[in-house]
Amino acid sequence: MKQEYIFIGPPGSGKGTQTKMLSKDYNLPHIDTGSLLREEVASGSDEGKLANSYMEKGQLVPIELVSKIIKNRLLKQDCNNGFILDGYPRSLEQAYALDEILKEVNNNCEFVLKVFYFEVSQDKLVERLVNRRSCSVCGAIYNLKTMKLKDTEKCEKCGGKLIRRDDDTEEVAVKRFETYFNQTAPLIELYDKRNCLIKLDASLPIEEIYKNLTGEIKEYVHS
Ligand code: AMP
Repeated sequence: MKQEYIFIGPPGSGKGTQTKMLSKDYNLPHIDTGSLLREEVASGSDEGKLANSYMEKGQLVPIELVSKIIKNRLLKQDCNNGFILDGYPRSLEQAYALDEILKEVNNNCEFVLKVFYFEVSQDKLVERLVNRRSCSVCGAIYNLKTMKLKDTEKCEKCGGKLIRRDDDTEEVAVKRFETYFNQTAPLIELYDKRNCLIKLDASLPIEEIYKNLTGEIKEYVHS
């Protein structure tokens, strides 16, 4: 059965860390619209320039561009057994667009779709974001406050340079929260009504969240 997992949560709730672990252990592609958009920006294309004008303000990139990127990605062969969506959909409009994309992508195959919601209090989040660093080579994520790194500029896994994302400043982080609460939070109700929402306590340590997450997944996959 095809496994399709969607992750929703405010910026800094730890979705990225959990979804990357899940992707590796379950051999499902990790599809993160933020990274796909940053790649587009780095390519210097007109679409990348357009995306960047929204990203630097902490606003959502227009739906036409995001839907195109997601559809192209979900049609790739490595998604045949399922996928993990991290950071998409982020609005009701995108959720309805995804319904249409999935009709095409799933094309009569059997699938399970579950939506994981990462719950965490807002005061923890800004602190997590401003202390977040990621490896420019392998993408590993670090928190300077909770992880005692010997060298705060060097990845402990591959030696790559650690970077702070341009939008992980306090000012942009606050705007990203506003966007989240206005546009993304309504998705929780939508997926709850569809009986596919699972809430996870994202204030717990990484290993515990992962145990809860994989515990849930085992239930669906075996039922
Ligand atoms: P993230 O890396 O998930 O924090 O996303 C960084 C930025 O990319 C966001 O603040 C948005 O500007 C943009 N972005 C990411 N995902 C989406 C999406 N699903 N829809 C629209 N914009 C997005």
